[in-house]
Amino acid sequence: MSSVLPQSTVVSQLRDTFESGRTRPLAWRLGQLTALRALLTENTEALREALRADLGKSATEADRYEIGYMIGDIDHTVRHLEQWLAPQPAAVPDRFAPAQAQVVREPLGVVLVIAPWNYPLQLALAPMMGALAAGNTVVVKPSELAPATSAALARLLPRYLDPQAVAVVEGAVPETTALLEQHFDHIFYTGNGTVGRIVMAAAVKHLTPVTLELGGKSPAVVEPGVDLAATARRIAVGKFLNAGQTCVAPDYVLAIGDTGAALEAELTDAVTALYGKDPENSPEYGRIINERHFDRLTALLADGRIVTGGGQDRSGRYLAPTVLADVAPDAPVMQEEIFGPVLPIINVPDVDAAIAFINDRDKPLALYAFTESEATKRRLTEETSSGAIAFGLPVSHLALPELPFGGVGASGMGRYHGEYSIDTFSHSKGILDKPIS
Ligand code: NAD
Repeated sequence: MSSVLPQSTVVSQLRDTFESGRTRPLAWRLGQLTALRALLTENTEALREALRADLGKSATEADRYEIGYMIGDIDHTVRHLEQWLAPQPAAVPDRFAPAQAQVVREPLGVVLVIAPWNYPLQLALAPMMGALAAGNTVVVKPSELAPATSAALARLLPRYLDPQAVAVVEGAVPETTALLEQHFDHIFYTGNGTVGRIVMAAAVKHLTPVTLELGGKSPAVVEPGVDLAATARRIAVGKFLNAGQTCVAPDYVLAIGDTGAALEAELTDAVTALYGKDPENSPEYGRIINERHFDRLTALLADGRIVTGGGQDRSGRYLAPTVLADVAPDAPVMQEEIFGPVLPIINVPDVDAAIAFINDRDKPLALYAFTESEATKRRLTEETSSGAIAFGLPVSHLALPELPFGGVGASGMGRYHGEYSIDTFSHSKGILDKPIS
């Protein structure tokens, strides 16, 4: 469907399609998923090129975290969809017998997906795929800050998917604002909390349910006694991926006891092992999305002692993987999600202090901890709240399709991935059937 039509026309055409019943059969849904898979495999080079143009994303990162991620997500959904859509029998209390009860998942209608720029392919396609698998029609609004990927999606999606069921609307604030005036049956927004509030306020008018996939400061707690070289490597991989512009990147290290001092050298070595002595020339290292974010990030470098990194080139939007020590807990770098390649180390004396530090702030999207202690794992799990918690490995939990992915409190509401996506984009309808006589 063309994106040049007025928003109201786009949405009403998608609603007509939904109401025709065309998107309900399992065969149609599986057909869309298979077509999406073909889009990804037949246009891999063009998609890599778009991601390189928008974010300097390496082919490795494009393949692993965007294109390959989506293929895995599609395959998992295709394998399980029939089973996820099967009516679930529900127990009937004796006093209602004889009777039968079940729960069916019905599609909602027209879904709006608003995507951000940092994983501009994955974060547009993964919710869209879930919405289609659940039998809905979808408007996809890619981020205007990743224009090459946005253009690729606008060009390719109508070619591969049912153009009566999927529309791409490109644009920035005016176009999104116009879209938000329309009546949707679900709005799925990924991005920052300020716009999340705008989306939620707009949804009120039509009583539209929302999923808000937001961000926040995800800590990486490090306890004494762990292998610090391995810990530093894993933190560095998760942090400096996509030049730090990852919603679940470790935002800062919460170093217990004397681990902070030891991590300075280990993180320095880990960065060199990943990107060499000169990350600017590493084909694996990405770029900052635009100059506004570059200026915001470089201003944060004054908030501590630079342990490694600090190198920068504004015209190339390059900011080296940077580790900061001696950072005050109330410094600007500790006030907002960093969302870039700057990693502050904050020292705390013990687990109690780490838990208090986390609980003093907004609930993070992810909490990471490197500890050999089951007691510490239990305490962190029970005494803090976060979208997810991962021990020993940052970021990768989002690639487990059996885990729900989403935030809590300021890091968002709702969840998706795997069967959770079907749940998000369906209404679970209870059915009671009692013989009349
Ligand atoms: P962004 O600037 O691309 O904005 C996201 C979307 O909101 C875009 O499509 C944009 O057009 C739209 N938008 C912007 N201003 C708007 C307005 N006034 N009204 C309506 N729509 C508007 O991306 P961003 O917000 O900078 O993304 C970064 C944030 O997203 C970070 O906080 C990050 O942690 C979070 N994030 C979360 C997840 C997750 O899965 N939870 C994933 C990626 C990013």
